[in-house]
Amino acid sequence: MDTLDCVVIGAGVVGLAIARQLAMAGREVMICEAEAQPGQHTSSRNSEVIHAGLYYPTDSLKARLCLQGRDLLYRYCAERHIPHQRIGKLLLAHSAADLPRLQDIARRAAANGVDDLQWLDAAGVRALEPALSAHAALLSPSTGIVDSHALLQALLADAEAHGAQLACHSPVSGGRTLPQGLLLEIAGMPIQARLVINAAGLWAASVATNIAGVPRETIPAAHYARGVYFSLSGRSPFSRLIYPLPEAGGLGCHLTLDLAGQARFGPDVEWIDGVDYRQDPARAAAFYHSIRRWWPQLADDALQPAYAGVRPKLVGPGMADADFVIQGPAEHGVAGLINLYGIESPGLTSCLALAEAVTALANQHR
Ligand SMILES: Cc1cc2nc3c(=O)[nH]c(=O)nc-3n(C[C@H](O)[C@H](O)[C@H](O)COP(=O)(O)OP(=O)(O)OC[C@H]3O[C@@H](n4cnc5c(N)ncnc54)[C@H](O)[C@@H]3O)c2cc1C
Repeated sequence: MDTLDCVVIGAGVVGLAIARQLAMAGREVMICEAEAQPGQHTSSRNSEVIHAGLYYPTDSLKARLCLQGRDLLYRYCAERHIPHQRIGKLLLAHSAADLPRLQDIARRAAANGVDDLQWLDAAGVRALEPALSAHAALLSPSTGIVDSHALLQALLADAEAHGAQLACHSPVSGGRTLPQGLLLEIAGMPIQARLVINAAGLWAASVATNIAGVPRETIPAAHYARGVYFSLSGRSPFSRLIYPLPEAGGLGCHLTLDLAGQARFGPDVEWIDGVDYRQDPARAAAFYHSIRRWWPQLADDALQPAYAGVRPKLVGPGMADADFVIQGPAEHGVAGLINLYGIESPGLTSCLALAEAVTALANQHR
């Protein structure tokens, strides 16, 4: 049986960014994607926000890779003509009681290296966004938006231009570890590879579980938190992204704009048992309630169900958010395997930085 150099499992934004980086480093890469096309799951079911890096615990992977990834992504979007915009975001305090939390976020952002936040009082907020009602806000000028579909296409095109091959309809259903590398079962075919990157997103834990020889105690439990979006019919009165304070499990139901200026609100947080993108229109009631705290003029019937995404969580309800997990041989003892777990937000922003981190880890174990 021939042995491939690298197999990347999953053609989401993270798997494609890793495949691109490995291919550009001269490695032979095959990308296995279970679906008919790349990017059918979390990478196309998100807010499409380039995060500035405000929220994450200092020294966490999320903090480091978000900042690094943000800068890499802005540069990449400019070079590859991927539609994007450094549109800015307002993070709101509804009342004086919210100020301590906003101050905590500002301190954490500064510790993470975010040095461009600006404080606005109520009048300053109104001067920028007249329809907005808030006690105060932090303006983050380096937050932006990106066309995630164009990003996926550019990453794939770069990877392919450097020799990577994408196999769709190619689920990895099992495998086993070998003294050097792994034997995978891909679309029913045995394929041997020296290096395997598990970037299967919501299914990363089950992919690892199905590979005999990966120590079970190193595989985290998978938890799922669905977030739904509602789009706004008609024109948005806002020209920046508007965020409330974060809530448990998510960044809070915010307003994001796409590159055509169309507004959508979301995602909320609903803990579910598996990957399920159904959207209950009845959830709109809670959206009206929370949005009207900062946009009282939101009209009845202005919200239309849009889409849902599911966060690949490593912890369940009521627990502090976990960091990204990148596991190499030092963590699980398997030569030639790198697992990525819990790549929730800010995974889109961080994709190029994650790719650099994974490639550096792969090079250590060549
Ligand atoms: C509601 C929501 C909002 C978000 N908003 C933002 C945001 O604004 N900004 C930001 O930076 N991040 C955001 N994120 C996070 C970001 O979207 C993800 O971190 C990122 O898309 C993860 O990409 P991925 O490639 O790891 O996963 P995915 O895109 O899910 O890709 C994994 C791929 O693996 C494939 N796969 C699974 N199992 C197998 C198998 N056995 N064999 C072969 N292929 C397999 C899947 O089909 C899929 O294509 C958000 C996430 C959610 C859920």
